[in-house]
Amino acid sequence: MHRHSSRIELSEAALKNNLDFIRSNIGGDTIISSVVKANAYGHGIHDFVPLAEECGIRHFAVASSYEAEEVVEARTTDADVMIMGILYPEDLPWVIKHEIEYFVYDFHRLERSVDIAKQVGKKARIHLELETGGNRTGLEPEKLDQTIAFIKKNLDYLELEGVCTHYAGIESLSNQFRIQQQEQLFEQMYERITDAGIEPNLRHTACSAGALAFPETVMDMVRVGTAQYGLWPSPDIYNLHLMQEKDNAEHTLEQVLSWKTNIMHLKDVAEGQYIGYGTAFQASRDMRVAVIPIGYGNGYARSLSNNGEVLIHGQKTPIVGSVNMNVFMVDVTDLDGVNIRDKVVLIGQQNGESISIKSFTEGNYAINNEFISRLPAAIPRKVVS
Ligand SMILES: *Cc1c(COP(=O)(O)O)cnc(C)c1O
Repeated sequence: MHRHSSRIELSEAALKNNLDFIRSNIGGDTIISSVVKANAYGHGIHDFVPLAEECGIRHFAVASSYEAEEVVEARTTDADVMIMGILYPEDLPWVIKHEIEYFVYDFHRLERSVDIAKQVGKKARIHLELETGGNRTGLEPEKLDQTIAFIKKNLDYLELEGVCTHYAGIESLSNQFRIQQQEQLFEQMYERITDAGIEPNLRHTACSAGALAFPETVMDMVRVGTAQYGLWPSPDIYNLHLMQEKDNAEHTLEQVLSWKTNIMHLKDVAEGQYIGYGTAFQASRDMRVAVIPIGYGNGYARSLSNNGEVLIHGQKTPIVGSVNMNVFMVDVTDLDGVNIRDKVVLIGQQNGESISIKSFTEGNYAINNEFISRLPAAIPRKVVS
């Protein structure tokens, strides 16, 4: 048993709460596709996928065929898997054989899909992603007629599982003009598809922010990452929630992930001495510091040097000096009875105090996802009730 320097816990109760919360916003009939790209936003695909299935999820979305394979390995039900991102043509035979759904946003991928479906002897399960103004991926309006004609001709080899688009920053209220234009263009393009006599199984456009705050974007399915993990997509969406729920503080999202380690070492430092590398921190009094076995190499942010906090004995203790590759130091001078191996909470709760992911990234919620999605896959994950 060689132990890792830290561990991540996933709260089943928090995930259940978040899915109920999302459900209460979108209504009963809409499918929730659980977005588990980037190793389930750092939560760990192998532990998160079965947990989400326990909570009723039967559809997962990923960003590559590598991630699709991880979900196929991890799932415990017949849950569907959908690739929203890159798909190398070499992987198409595997993808079609395993009945994995995927986005199609150019004509070339559509033609290849039919070729491979014929070879494999199964239908390719495609979601036509439409360009509505995000200018990332998506099939342009001027290519729609050609695409519709091709799909109609090849319905023996193609299952049109969905028609979809992705909004360019719907979590920010200042983008709403652009989002409305995207919504309108999506409706127009969708009508052109159905007018041509093709009926897709599902329409889907909403990510977390759409699902939580913009009912007109909630269709047959929503693709939810951020919110299921208990994070707010942006201050705007959190503020809309507060305005609606001011009398019901219990009805909110809960963070699924906690991150814990133990004190590695304790050190007494005399006034005037520097702590750690360089002159980042000079002891202003006789101090006692705890060495924490975590650094930027473990996904902790170096920008928390002289800035972040951890919980020890339920108390917030500040980081002193810089965050190194594999250690940083915290000030425990005012804490009594601190010992080597005492528990340290990097993210999460202890005795009623809490350190949220948001507290690392105050003022820029987009960074929440950046921070958690980079947590190394090597850190062991454990589900707790
Ligand atoms: C990542 C992603 C989502 C999920 O977005 P959240 O804001 O995390 O819910 C949905 N759709 C697409 C296409 C994505 O790439």
